[in-house]
Amino acid sequence: MRFSEIIGDKKIKKKLVDEVRNERVSHANMFIGPEGSGKLQMAISMAQYMLCENPSKTDSCGECAQCKQCAALTHPDLHFAFPVVLSKKEHVESSDDRRTEWNNLLLKKRYFNLNQWQIELDELGKNAVIGKEESRSIMKKLSLKSFSGRYKFMIVWLPEKMNLTAANKLLKLLEEPPEGTYFFLVSNSTESILPTIISRTQFIRIPALQAEESVKFLKKNYGIDEQLAVSVIGFSQRNINEAIHLVEGDNSYHVYFDLFVKMMRAAYTANPMDLMDITDQITDLEKERQKNFIKYALHILRESIMLNYMKGKLVHLREEEKQFLSKFARFINNRNITELMDEFNSGFYQLERNANPKILFSDLLIKLTKLIKRGV
Ligand SMILES: [Zn+2]
Repeated sequence: MRFSEIIGDKKIKKKLVDEVRNERVSHANMFIGPEGSGKLQMAISMAQYMLCENPSKTDSCGECAQCKQCAALTHPDLHFAFPVVLSKKEHVESSDDRRTEWNNLLLKKRYFNLNQWQIELDELGKNAVIGKEESRSIMKKLSLKSFSGRYKFMIVWLPEKMNLTAANKLLKLLEEPPEGTYFFLVSNSTESILPTIISRTQFIRIPALQAEESVKFLKKNYGIDEQLAVSVIGFSQRNINEAIHLVEGDNSYHVYFDLFVKMMRAAYTANPMDLMDITDQITDLEKERQKNFIKYALHILRESIMLNYMKGKLVHLREEEKQFLSKFARFINNRNITELMDEFNSGFYQLERNANPKILFSDLLIKLTKLIKRGV
């Protein structure tokens, strides 16, 4: 992929291009930034730029044989290592055994996170790792001469998923990279990466995507209108993986909005029948949607605070939401916001751990009745 085809900060793209042009690219790099900031795509674009036969001052050409192979993810010097669920039965030992699925997803969706990668393989919830066979495979690939006669790239997606054996082997390679090899590690968080690995790498920081740019991307690629795109980006907190997932899988904003309004009314009046009724309506949703509803509620609470304390900066809402919040937002303030957010966050956490939704939501509603009163 070319830089012009991916979303991301122009300044960062220019910085990466300049590093290449000034021959300052380190052999071991860590693309680090929040989830859904397009780091993997930045790393691939940078590799393509370095392999391109006719690069311009700002981008790869997209026309030469190298670019075409990169775009199709078939370039023999562009290697990937990523977490997989190891399985004897299915003969999965390393990412080589999942490379077809990987290419398909990357070409089809371009932006995805570990959960979405696992959903694609129908392996959600199973432990995906970069294991010891992976390190053997990496060494083998990098010991070969580069096909293009130039560079080889090893893009390691989520090095935080490496087990200790793999990490130690990678460390050796980072210390003495094979001739012409560039490592692009792509990580959401360095917390669980060996400090010795971190200290060997040059950090390339990728910030969260700009809302405007992401909105444009969703409109263009998913044919949704401005209002919905703005709302989805706000809802997903500028995480493009999440935003795409929502647009593709769950378009139920009006349902969530309705439920949220009913939930808050029931909490305000504390009418037992209304409380029971809304609990039933929420728990009738599928579990993934129950979780999305909670995320939606958190989004509306955040926006209420924005409305109260940063007047006019309310940019992540649709019209019906704005109208509702113009009356409702005053009930959400410094007397209850922290606890409200805590309760919803805790609800989400419990749902992920298979709590009983009926108990969870009726409990949440009882707490809401108290918390809403406190804000009045
Ligand atoms: Zn090219």
